[in-house]
Amino acid sequence: STPFFDAVIIGAGAAGLFCAAQAGQRGLKVLLIDHADKVAEKIRISGGGRCNFTNRELDVRAPHKHFVGQNPQFCRSALSRYTPADFIALVQRHGIAFHEKHKGQLFADRSAEDIIAMLLAECADGRVERWQPCGVKSVVFLAAERLIANQAANPHPRPLPEGEGAKPAQPIALAPLGRGRGEGHPRPGNSQALSGFIADAESAGSYQINTDRGPVLARSLVIATGGLSIPKIGASDLGYRLAQQFKLPLVERRPGLVPLTFDGAEWAPYAQLAGLALPVEISTGAKKERMAFHEDLLFTHRGLSGPAVLQISSYWRDGQPLAIDLAPGVNLGEALRMAKARSRKRIANELATLVPTRLAEAWASTDADWQRPINEAADKALARLAERLARWQLTPTGTEGYKKAEVTLGGVDTRALSQQSMECKSQPGLYFIGEVVDVTGWLGGYNFQWAWASGHACAQALPLG
Ligand code: FAD
Repeated sequence: STPFFDAVIIGAGAAGLFCAAQAGQRGLKVLLIDHADKVAEKIRISGGGRCNFTNRELDVRAPHKHFVGQNPQFCRSALSRYTPADFIALVQRHGIAFHEKHKGQLFADRSAEDIIAMLLAECADGRVERWQPCGVKSVVFLAAERLIANQAANPHPRPLPEGEGAKPAQPIALAPLGRGRGEGHPRPGNSQALSGFIADAESAGSYQINTDRGPVLARSLVIATGGLSIPKIGASDLGYRLAQQFKLPLVERRPGLVPLTFDGAEWAPYAQLAGLALPVEISTGAKKERMAFHEDLLFTHRGLSGPAVLQISSYWRDGQPLAIDLAPGVNLGEALRMAKARSRKRIANELATLVPTRLAEAWASTDADWQRPINEAADKALARLAERLARWQLTPTGTEGYKKAEVTLGGVDTRALSQQSMECKSQPGLYFIGEVVDVTGWLGGYNFQWAWASGHACAQALPLG
């Protein structure tokens, strides 16, 4: 007969593992399914291999400060019920050494493997069963009314052929999703499609998940399939397709925390700066929409990266310019005027006392007026130089895409979910947690904290058999 679980969780990443462990420890019979060969690959590569697992500066009363999404307040309930301090306590209970690097970011001292081992140990404590690698072919909701209707119409059903169990006559293959880059073409899914289906009344109101290892039944189904970034380690659009199958609204997906690219010809003068890193202030948007970060910027061959650019990329919109202050906190105009009064050195040499030498050389080489001794330079030319460095305006042509993005912005619209439990308001027993939801954190451990907190909220709400 078809195995039955209190909860099936699809996706053994950060949110799925954590939710499975917590639900299992509450006494639920939990099955965790993942199609990737290795468990939690994203945790393994996170934080440069050390996993920035949370952030001490997270303000749970004001999550909009560190989270992006159509309703940044949505995550408040879950984040305040499972805080960074809670996860830190868990890490400490497992004897994992960690350190703070920058702006509240906590990393494992040794390796991200320690965090994965901790999550697996927590799952073992909760007797969680894990099928991996195991693909999911389709999901069917066994609606109670339909089953009752079927039974009323056919009170003496002929016995089903052996092995068929609760399988619907025609399992629904998951349709490719249409929205967002690289997600295929739209084809509406099917939430019930139970015609001709005869099942045990006990299955009513539960979910049948058809997997590579056969069908399973679950009272609750939790989708923790993450976002679209880094497809080569298992990212897929399954979560979005399931949302669509159950008629849930989706917020358009786009890469976030991602390097930005620039037009090849326009970028040519700066390509020589590849590898240079420096602290900057970066901003985008005007007035109330303006967002700014003080972080390090990294020049690459194709454009800009580093924490400053990754952070601003989650706010940047196609066609919008960025403004970058390459010498924040320095009054460049004043410094250059003073240098002119006392020095006969090349402008680039004087500039190199204020910004990195490579930047000073590259910048001065872009204008004939800046390639002379500073005492011979016109005041206007120096003012222009200062202005260009302090307010460098440039418009990216795009991003490096999901291949390089750390997260996916957008996802399951939070209006469709309960902020207490992550359960779908219109579809009882179906839950979405982690990155698949339209909640995206800043760089710095916020995304993992959301995975833990949403997984915890869901695990506490899942009904026991
Ligand atoms: P994931 O951890 O991505 O897990 C989703 C799981 O679902 C995967 O195991 C996947 O194999 C499985 N899955 C997908 N499709 C299917 C399917 N069709 N069938 C079955 N299984 C499926 N965040 C931080 O907070 N700190 C960091 O230091 C950090 N560093 C990062 C570094 C990199 C390079 C990247 C890419 C991301 C980083 N992030 C970091 C972001 C963080 O990894 C994610 O936000 C987080 O892992 C999301 O958790 P999740 O459980 O929702 O999804």
